[in-house]
Amino acid sequence: MPSAISTDVLIVGAGVAGLWLNARLRRMGYSTVLVERAGLGGEQTIKSQGIIHGGTKYALHGTLTGASEAIADMPRRWREALAGSGELDLGDTRLLSDAHYLWSPGTLAGNLTSFFASKAVRGRVDQVKGEQLPPALQDRAFKGKVYRLAELVIDVPSLLANLARLAGDSLLAGARIEPLREGEALVGLIVDGREIRAQRIVLSAGGGTEELLRALGLSQPAMQRRPLHMVLAKGPNLKPLYAHCLGGGPKPRITVTTHPAADGQWVWYLGGDLAEADGVAREPAEQIAAAQKEVASLMPWVDQRQIRWATLRIDRAEPAQSGLVRPDNAFLAEQQRLLVGWPTKLALAPDFSDRVLASLERDGIRPSEQPVLADLPRPPLGVPAWEQLLP
Ligand SMILES: Cc1cc2nc3c(=O)[nH]c(=O)nc-3n(C[C@H](O)[C@H](O)[C@H](O)COP(=O)(O)OP(=O)(O)OC[C@H]3O[C@@H](n4cnc5c(N)ncnc54)[C@H](O)[C@@H]3O)c2cc1C
Repeated sequence: MPSAISTDVLIVGAGVAGLWLNARLRRMGYSTVLVERAGLGGEQTIKSQGIIHGGTKYALHGTLTGASEAIADMPRRWREALAGSGELDLGDTRLLSDAHYLWSPGTLAGNLTSFFASKAVRGRVDQVKGEQLPPALQDRAFKGKVYRLAELVIDVPSLLANLARLAGDSLLAGARIEPLREGEALVGLIVDGREIRAQRIVLSAGGGTEELLRALGLSQPAMQRRPLHMVLAKGPNLKPLYAHCLGGGPKPRITVTTHPAADGQWVWYLGGDLAEADGVAREPAEQIAAAQKEVASLMPWVDQRQIRWATLRIDRAEPAQSGLVRPDNAFLAEQQRLLVGWPTKLALAPDFSDRVLASLERDGIRPSEQPVLADLPRPPLGVPAWEQLLP
């Protein structure tokens, strides 16, 4: 039987929520163990688009929502971490773009009046033209308007590698999780037969949290899944583009990010409305055809003959909301030693860690002297979807 461990905070799930929290706790002197059953960033994080939203896209409704307020500070927190001067040193994380763009094709400017009047947007949006346009839009045939948003796009695989380094020896590969109880009280978890006692246990396992709660005999907090059917395009002639392309509605028609593949080519990753309800209902071949039509209509100068296409289905895992709407903030629920939550956005990982730290602070949980861990089986890094689907 593997040896028992005792730690200050035991975290289950090494997506961005668990990894960010783990790195912050370790920096503050807490001992931690972070358990992961697949690769680091295993589910949503490694498949995300890497946009560090400041909430601007939520202001497309023309109204300032709670989400716009809560998320507005996140780009600053990430920028500081990327510069090595924030709550974490993410200096080894690759920045793909220091701006995300809003792109209004043709005649939609009228729709944007209320958007630009919104407080969330004021002072944070500049129109760009000519050589300042994203490379993929620099074509004589381009029509429309493009605005630069003060939001970042990061390379998620390099973020995960950076966070894995900050995790030091705290990572543990483990899949079978059972409760460790003293009397009625949950005092830790048994991971693949190894007893781990902890002052606090955090479940940040994304879509796996529901099943973990069941294993602990709990049904709350309830979670929801919102499905997406994303599209990937890879080709030697694709140029970088990081943009929300506006349609008539409150959601971007497509959201394009561009990612470096191991062979040096760029991969376009297409989400937004294309990947939501209608896209989810389409079979992969129909979804690819829909994406090809969108690209042909929005960027007719792009030669599609050398592009290879793939689709990817993935659920966003979040706390249950009435009407399956998007939650506004990171979420954390507490039941004695157990803390359970979802960041709800990559960008909100710092907000998630704030909530856990506030709970530790309130309950007087301080770093204690714990033995240094060594030789734990370590989970591997997650593999980007484009390397798996379009090698
Ligand atoms: C297609 C897509 C694009 C997105 N783009 C963006 C974006 O551009 N910007 C943004 O801010 N947000 C974006 N998001 C949202 C963002 O990706 C998620 O909110 C965030 O990554 C969730 O992180 P997490 O750590 O909670 O979950 P996950 O990344 O899903 O991590 C959970 C981890 O827990 C592990 N796990 C599960 N069960 C167990 C178990 N029983 N034992 C051990 N480990 C377990 C999993 O293997 C996984 O590694 C996007 C989401 C999707 C799906």
